[in-house]
Amino acid sequence: MKNLKIFNSLSNKKEIFFPINNRNIRIYACGPTVYNYAHVGNARMAVVFDTIVKLLRYIFPKVTYVSNITDIDDKIIQRSLVEKKSCEQISATYLSIYNSEMKQLNVDNPDFQPKATEYVESMIEKIKILQDKGYAYFNEGHLLFSVLTFPEYGILSKRSKEDQIAGKRIKVASYKKKPEDFILWKPSKENEPGWSSPWGKGRPGWHTECFAMASDILKTPFDIHGGGLDLKFPHHENEIAQGCCFQKNKNIQSYAKYWMHNGFVTFEEEKMSKSLGNIALLKDYLKVYNGEIIRLALLSAHYRSPLVWKESLLIQSKNILDKFYEVLRKLEDVKLENYNTKLPDELEGYFFDDFNLSKVFAYLNRIIKDKENYKNEEKKMKLKKILYTTGNILGIFKQDTNEWFKNDKKASEKDIKEIEKLIEQRSLARMEKNFNLADNIRKQLIDLGIEIQDSPKGAKWKRVK
Ligand SMILES: [Zn+2]
Repeated sequence: MKNLKIFNSLSNKKEIFFPINNRNIRIYACGPTVYNYAHVGNARMAVVFDTIVKLLRYIFPKVTYVSNITDIDDKIIQRSLVEKKSCEQISATYLSIYNSEMKQLNVDNPDFQPKATEYVESMIEKIKILQDKGYAYFNEGHLLFSVLTFPEYGILSKRSKEDQIAGKRIKVASYKKKPEDFILWKPSKENEPGWSSPWGKGRPGWHTECFAMASDILKTPFDIHGGGLDLKFPHHENEIAQGCCFQKNKNIQSYAKYWMHNGFVTFEEEKMSKSLGNIALLKDYLKVYNGEIIRLALLSAHYRSPLVWKESLLIQSKNILDKFYEVLRKLEDVKLENYNTKLPDELEGYFFDDFNLSKVFAYLNRIIKDKENYKNEEKKMKLKKILYTTGNILGIFKQDTNEWFKNDKKASEKDIKEIEKLIEQRSLARMEKNFNLADNIRKQLIDLGIEIQDSPKGAKWKRVK
């Protein structure tokens, strides 16, 4: 077996992956805050780390994967006020939507999906110890981590002391002794959820959640800590500070040994993030495209590179999948006892080189074109096994080949914007009681393979198979 090489953000270079215990690989990746529908950026993180875990499972006998859910947060509180529901209702609703959408992307459930609210007791215990050891101070109702007590701070993001002061141009909160200090505990207002603590009724800071849950479930040090690039600073930097100080072990790998980050999703040259109001919601793409198409599109750029999200990417992914499903359909009569095999060294080498998926696909394209591989049953069997084993790692080729081609190509290739625009025009026509126009638009949509259903919450649509 070749060595797996991964890019470690901590050392800023590609390194051979040496597990802490090769009988159980432990990996943690920061999951979403559940206050709204998942956007494409959330989906990329989930698909990237699911693929990393799938490759680790191909190599090692056991992998324990933890990905958390932030279910207490200012954004959830705000949303609960807007929707006039409790924070529990908001987070439960969006968590269940998130999980069902991830399932459509062939993302397996993590082994553990801890919710922050279930670990508050443990967070309180841990930050109390940090305070007792002199790493934290209490001021104006807030417990803060004093960054000065951890000289290694900045090691992950490679930020200078100057740059660490996120928002130094913004007025620094009066409870902070230094602008770079971060919140471990903050007070809750009367109408906000809170827990009693040595510092009064309040709630934990976001950076404390992951530190407590990862330490409790995986035990430290664990092998890999991951998340989106936007979490590198300050979130992951703050986790390292807490993790190392908690153990009084200033070795920066005493919390997590390797750090992996997936790149941003960009959308018309702008960072895609809900807070910027530049929203590309996964649910809208799932209405039109099969989850596997979206998954492959999310894997189309190297996981560390930015991914420029555009409609043509989805069409391209669909064409790639069509091509492979066509081959799998041709190989349907070839009987396999199991769908997993040891991959050829060359192909394995591409996977093991920090997930060089473009080389993986170049290899697959080569072998499906080679007539030699269809010459006899044995060769066909080998080809089929390679395709399905690769598919298991990448989370694709999961559908029945005949089912795959039943999907209405016409609708799936349609521009989602065009469909949404027609629906909007139809709603407007209905509001203006122009039922003739509304009906004509409905017919146009049917021609495009789109069925529309009106509900009290507005029009819903689906692709007609
Ligand atoms: Zn986190």
